[in-house]
Amino acid sequence: MRFGDCIRAIKKLRPAYRNARLLREYCERLDCALGHMHDQVDRLEKQVDRLTPQASLNLVEINIVSHCNLNCRSCSHFSPLAEEEFLPVELAELDFARLASLSCGDVRCIHIMGGEPLLHPRCCDFLRHARRHFPMSTIRLVTNGILLPSQPDSFWSCLSRNLIELSPTRYPVDIDWKYVKDKCSEYRIPFGFFNNTDIRKTMTRFTLDLTGRQDPRTSFRDCDCANNTVVLHDGRMYPCEIIPTVRHFNRYFDEEMEVTRNDSIDIYEARSMNEILSFLSKPVPFCRHCNVLNRVRGIEWETASECSPPQMSEWADY
Ligand code: SF4
Repeated sequence: MRFGDCIRAIKKLRPAYRNARLLREYCERLDCALGHMHDQVDRLEKQVDRLTPQASLNLVEINIVSHCNLNCRSCSHFSPLAEEEFLPVELAELDFARLASLSCGDVRCIHIMGGEPLLHPRCCDFLRHARRHFPMSTIRLVTNGILLPSQPDSFWSCLSRNLIELSPTRYPVDIDWKYVKDKCSEYRIPFGFFNNTDIRKTMTRFTLDLTGRQDPRTSFRDCDCANNTVVLHDGRMYPCEIIPTVRHFNRYFDEEMEVTRNDSIDIYEARSMNEILSFLSKPVPFCRHCNVLNRVRGIEWETASECSPPQMSEWADY
């Protein structure tokens, strides 16, 4: 019997013994213990998942710009700290071609994102190339939505022609979503918010350890990003979104958390997709900079501004 079924069975029995005080107390304690065990099993299952190579790539993210027009505090891509940086389309196309050849096009989902991807003047070219190399994949454009209402018709046609899903993250900013949804209906573009819009938008503080004294194996095992938010950047695959973007943090705050070639795998040197999938399921040296158990979720969403610039404490314990 599974733990959830067990808890349900006990709950069903409980009313019959409502007057037996001792038994009720016993049931309550058992409920509590089973709930705790359920959490532990859940945690263990997630750890096993992270350390198990995926059968085929479930999701890959490609950041086509580094900077953003919203600048959320504690942004997991460090975009408020990034200088203007545009990924060359030609580079991405080569990477798409190589990944498609290694995986036989078997990548379930591709996210084109940033920074804010609509700041890239050639955003549609990335979408077109992604679709050409991955005809069977779900391809999503993940945007903060600010620039959507000002997109020309050619943008909506591009999404429609290339079967791209529009997947905006909903922030508490004023955007004419009705206009956007109407455009999607008109062009038959699948639309769905990236986040749960019933829940107030919050951020996670990643608590980087500048000294690098964490145990990489423990960090990786307990990390929600590990082997999950896989990133393809400049011919290399990374097991998470932190490593390919932490250079913005290092530059802005003049820090030196080292990223080495061992933190990612070169897709041109890899001999097979299995080699890549196996690499992505193992801790990398940079994990020593992640104090995963200290991560703070549910931080009130706000943005940095000129009079209130980004602070190191948004990302790091120091
Ligand atoms: S460096 Fe390791 S622990 Fe840190 S976010 Fe990436 S995978 Fe997770």
